[in-house]
Amino acid sequence: EDDLGLLELSEEGEEGIRYLPALPVIAIVGRPNVGKSALVNRILGRREAVVEDTPGVTRDRVSYKGEWLDRRFTLVDTGGWEPDAKGIDASVAAQAEVAIDLSDVVLFVVDATVGATATDEHVVRLLRKTKKPVFLVANKVDDARQEPEAAALWNLGLGEPYPVSALHGRGVADLLDEVFKVLPQVSAVAKEEFGGPRRVAILGRPNVGKSSLLNKAAREERVVVNELAGTTRDPVDEQIELGGKIWRFVDTAGIRRRVHLQQGADFYASLRTQAALEKAEVAVVLLDVSQPISEQDVRIIDLVLESGRALVLAYNKWDLLDDDRRRYLEREIEQDLHHVQWAPRVNISAKTGRHLEKLVPALETALESWDTRIPTGKFNAFLTELVQAHPHPLRGGKQPRILFGTQASTRPPTFVLFTTGFLDPGYRRFIQRRLREIYGFQGTPIVLNMRVRE
Ligand code: GDP
Repeated sequence: EDDLGLLELSEEGEEGIRYLPALPVIAIVGRPNVGKSALVNRILGRREAVVEDTPGVTRDRVSYKGEWLDRRFTLVDTGGWEPDAKGIDASVAAQAEVAIDLSDVVLFVVDATVGATATDEHVVRLLRKTKKPVFLVANKVDDARQEPEAAALWNLGLGEPYPVSALHGRGVADLLDEVFKVLPQVSAVAKEEFGGPRRVAILGRPNVGKSSLLNKAAREERVVVNELAGTTRDPVDEQIELGGKIWRFVDTAGIRRRVHLQQGADFYASLRTQAALEKAEVAVVLLDVSQPISEQDVRIIDLVLESGRALVLAYNKWDLLDDDRRRYLEREIEQDLHHVQWAPRVNISAKTGRHLEKLVPALETALESWDTRIPTGKFNAFLTELVQAHPHPLRGGKQPRILFGTQASTRPPTFVLFTTGFLDPGYRRFIQRRLREIYGFQGTPIVLNMRVRE
């Protein structure tokens, strides 16, 4: 139980990015204004997910790391985005669908003081199709007199309603007790088909060429049908042979399906990315070289880092590159993607098929790094040598010492250092740089944790 035990230590990954291991995922879904954010705050025990009274507020943040009585989990909050009435059913349903897809347990929140609305019924139809546990949360039951209103929600056909007051905390502990009875220790979504073909997520902002790449890889052009949001289909993965090996491209249905949302499209895209990452071992992030590297590109890459998956960068539409643009591109990469210099890079054209075969060695390298384990003896020899050549700078006449180190887990490589005193962030980055110099780790994030012994 190495991996689990050491979650306790897991604080910061490379460059201070918080790393989310394969924690079980709880998703909160429901229409606007039922109190999803309040419930998120209550469960997290902090005010991270801001409660907004104004509808239409967009946040990028999709998931939070939570802890409840020694159990750690990822909480996915679809309340980060609240649509207005126009097209609401399709939008809520589309988001609910993705949330269901990426979670281990779903909390469906209904406003008990209002009762079930048509939009609620719409979501219920989606929820009935999933085999995942669904908890019907009857919110805004602030005192016992309102409990009959919660009981009325039995008629939704989702089983027993759990009356809670997210705002005051009433009933939430009882709800969570039941949730944690069925929530797995490790995300079942992430564990899916462990040992089968390696699982690849193709990520990138709209129009970077994700479906073109898939089509080219599958060597057949497929018609991409415009589908209405909210039509539930099982999330389809595709097995594609590349370089003589079968790969599982996860959530390709999500790529092929065009969801035309009037609003909330960005939030929906973040959810999709998160969902694909939950299932994948390695992500190929596509960048469109004919366009400047955008904040959205960087955000997607950061989601990969947070998820702790292996990473390959594919610079697509290389056929459109001229000398002028090329100079800018290299400068943008240096500026915006400096923190992922370690990711294998392939310059491709999904349209012409240029260098697509180079994806395979890049994927293999990244996965190999992701799986790498350095024996404890070797790692300590590395540390000893490093400290001798470059001791930690003195701090107030004292010097934090590294007593011992070990690699706690792979996927991604996660190291724990037992120290006297905290190591400076600069020194930790230095250790990570040296680890990469000596061992490569091309294509994988590295996590370095410390356990301080005073
Ligand atoms: P997705 O939204 O990421 O799935 O992007 P698509 O695969 O639908 O591609 C968006 C547009 O870019 C389409 O018009 C594609 O034909 C075009 N496209 C994709 N890859 C390339 C490429 O390598 N070169 C050029 N010139 N166009 C491309």
